[in-house]
Amino acid sequence: MRKIQMVDLQSQYRKIKSEVDKEVVEVMDSATFVNGPAVKAFTTELQDYLNVKHVIPCANGTDALQIALMALDLKEGDEVITADFTFAATVEVIHLLKLKSVLVDVDYNNFTINTEKLKSAITPNTKAIIPVHLFGQCANMEEILKIAKEHHLYVIEDNAQAIGANYTFSDGTQQKSGTMGTIGTTSFFPSKNLGCYGDGGAIFTNDETLAHKMRGIVNHGMYRRYYHDEVGVNSRLDSIQAVVLRIKLKLLDAYTKARNEAADYYDKAFANHDQILIPSRSPYSTHVFHQYTLRILNGKRNGLQEFLASRDIPAMIYYPVALRKQKAYFQESKAADFENTDRLLEQVISLPMHTELDEEQLNYITQSVLEFMNTTP
Ligand SMILES: *Cc1c(COP(=O)(O)O)cnc(C)c1O
Repeated sequence: MRKIQMVDLQSQYRKIKSEVDKEVVEVMDSATFVNGPAVKAFTTELQDYLNVKHVIPCANGTDALQIALMALDLKEGDEVITADFTFAATVEVIHLLKLKSVLVDVDYNNFTINTEKLKSAITPNTKAIIPVHLFGQCANMEEILKIAKEHHLYVIEDNAQAIGANYTFSDGTQQKSGTMGTIGTTSFFPSKNLGCYGDGGAIFTNDETLAHKMRGIVNHGMYRRYYHDEVGVNSRLDSIQAVVLRIKLKLLDAYTKARNEAADYYDKAFANHDQILIPSRSPYSTHVFHQYTLRILNGKRNGLQEFLASRDIPAMIYYPVALRKQKAYFQESKAADFENTDRLLEQVISLPMHTELDEEQLNYITQSVLEFMNTTP
């Protein structure tokens, strides 16, 4: 059996190696390392794939979030609401820009921001909401967009984990994750669903004015060479990453399918176990399974992780600590306001999930999980 990994980028690379190697060498031959033709071609292809007017490539997913916030003309102390249960980058950029983060509980089943609690967190100082499409499934965007409209708030979708997911509104219209809010952001970190071979990110919007502004911000606030109209950053996608992304974008739907097949296998093995909750599938969003995350109800989650490790099966706790309890982002809170996040911190465990899992590996993983759960009272 091949060694089981959380993410198997080597096996995936081997299947596209000849194409990737040829394209990477061509970038070096042409010496168009930054903002070359490959970056432009990828940008257009991603716009078409997402059906969004503007894609602005940048250096990573954290920059993408920061640049999105910078484009919105917020002022110090303005409040930005996001989920307490997400990767720290989402809240980090809010603090970097001297805005105030307001953290909100998530849904127990969907792992995404709870819209009732979101509503009660809105104050006259609230300016934006950052829903995170955590683990590969969209937040409840219809409700979030409704709330945002009512209160005149911007919506930035953190789509680092859900690229390719489809959202269906109640009138039947469909949109890709990351293209529904004011701005969407993503990351091309190697382990993401559309990952490059280094760092990369992108920003999406249908708003012409914001797109123009962000194209300047990523490039030192320059709209005309050496004329700096605002304070920007230096955040670029390089051409080597772009050629990798062009090849992998063509495969993204097939990759999503492979992830869903692995998820279906896991679901089937665990669905009837009374101490295991499988990830729920929301009625309005497809799932791209960035992570396959179980909830373990018997209080033995850590024991399960150790047992799996002893069998050479990696499993991860995403995330072990609530953002509101992190030293850097600490805020006073009432436990009752965060009951779902706090339960999830104790229960979640993510199993290996990638495009290259085979049946032998899936069988070994599921049997090992069940063996532990059935022999540990
Ligand atoms: C990975 C990730 C980011 C940050 O992306 P980087 O490219 O690593 O900067 C932001 N938000 C979420 C939810 C992520 O998973």
